[in-house]
Amino acid sequence: MNVRQNTRLSAVLFTGQTERRSLLWVSFSSDILEKKSTMAAAAAVPSSVRGSLREDLTCAICCDLFRDPVMLSCMHHFCKSCISRYWRGTQGPVTCPQCRKEFTSKQFHTNYIVTAMVEKVRVATSDASIKKLEKQLSEALERHHLRKEYIDNCIHKDKEKMDIIKRVAADLRDRVKGEFRALHQILQDEETCMLEQLRREQEEELQKVQRHLEASELSVRELENNIRLLQQANGSLTEFPQLSRPCVQVETDTDFDVNAFSSRYLAPLQYITWRKMFHSVKPGPSPLVFDVETAHPSIYISRDKTVAVECDDMILHTSHSQRFLQCVNILAVQSFQSGRHYWEVEVGHSLKWDVGVASEAVDRRARIKLSPESGYWTLRLRKGNEYWAGTQPWTRLQVGSPPQRIGVYLDCDERRVSFYDADDMRLLYTFSNGPRGRALPFFSPCISDDRHRPQPIRLLHYPPVALSA
Ligand SMILES: [Zn+2]
Ligand SMILES: [Zn+2]
Repeated sequence: MNVRQNTRLSAVLFTGQTERRSLLWVSFSSDILEKKSTMAAAAAVPSSVRGSLREDLTCAICCDLFRDPVMLSCMHHFCKSCISRYWRGTQGPVTCPQCRKEFTSKQFHTNYIVTAMVEKVRVATSDASIKKLEKQLSEALERHHLRKEYIDNCIHKDKEKMDIIKRVAADLRDRVKGEFRALHQILQDEETCMLEQLRREQEEELQKVQRHLEASELSVRELENNIRLLQQANGSLTEFPQLSRPCVQVETDTDFDVNAFSSRYLAPLQYITWRKMFHSVKPGPSPLVFDVETAHPSIYISRDKTVAVECDDMILHTSHSQRFLQCVNILAVQSFQSGRHYWEVEVGHSLKWDVGVASEAVDRRARIKLSPESGYWTLRLRKGNEYWAGTQPWTRLQVGSPPQRIGVYLDCDERRVSFYDADDMRLLYTFSNGPRGRALPFFSPCISDDRHRPQPIRLLHYPPVALSA
């Protein structure tokens, strides 16, 4: 075995020197290239390759790695000491221990490349080196296992997230479809109702004319009969003929009034229907009114209970059981415990206000920080341009252009409170931990400073006049 491999190594290392050897180079070049690069990175060499290289670099005499390798003219390698010992005492020609080729003198050459390769293989295959490699291997394995475990976990989480996204989107899709189905139904009902009315009115008009037509035809027949009698009598006139019966009185013909008939249907139907829809839209804007019984004594309420403004004087009230006594707050009369509700509030150019929802149970006698924890879900303006969500601590909001009207959406079942710029229905903020139990629309015009006139908070009823269904 060693003989074959040693020959291969010798052939390879001397390629290019003669034509014969370059042929050998061609046959073995890929092999040696692999081995050279292998040696350059001995630590990374697979052990099978290292083992075979070690065999190639083993002396056929001592069966160990070459020590001071030398090469004979037959290109076989041996340790310098081994071949010297082998030839010791031999006079005259000597032979190669491997191929038995005869040489006239004891000649060999030191092969520095093989020497260097042997040293590298010796180091790479030493116990210490193998132990170090094994340690590196086991550490690398451990690292790869941990990394794989981490990435497996990421993949699992990603897949879970994708499932959640798909599930949530599917739910939302159903909800959107439901909302539009309801809108389509409203329109469908309106259309059916209007077409039915048109059909009835057409029927009435047709019947009117039909009655007139029948009466006229009957009259014609009677008149023809009478004409005949009168003509017969004309030949032998002895007495005035007895006419069968008095002519049927045909009521005076009334023209079909195209204008009156059409005008109801040539109206701005889309707008009229849209106005009517406010009764059916759920939730449509709730027409709230302020609850005077809850108003802080320095809040003035308009007669129609839709405007609240802070005033300098304290208003004298007799009942204080429902009233805010510390903070300049007020609630609406309406309260909600289930379903979805929406209302709009005009805040105008006021520099400071709080708008939102309060639990029915809030302590109205105490000065309390407004936050969901204390039963308030609010949007607030400070200094004329700082918008905050009333979380604890407050959350600063970037709202773009300052809203003049705020839309508040309370979903009791989902426990959500959302705020919108009511002019373009831009979402400003959503609380997802909304009230449990009964809650009421909440407002605070706040205390104005001396430099600014108090600005009112106005409850909007929209459309201003709703059409009856
Ligand atoms: Zn040897
Ligand atoms: Zn030989």
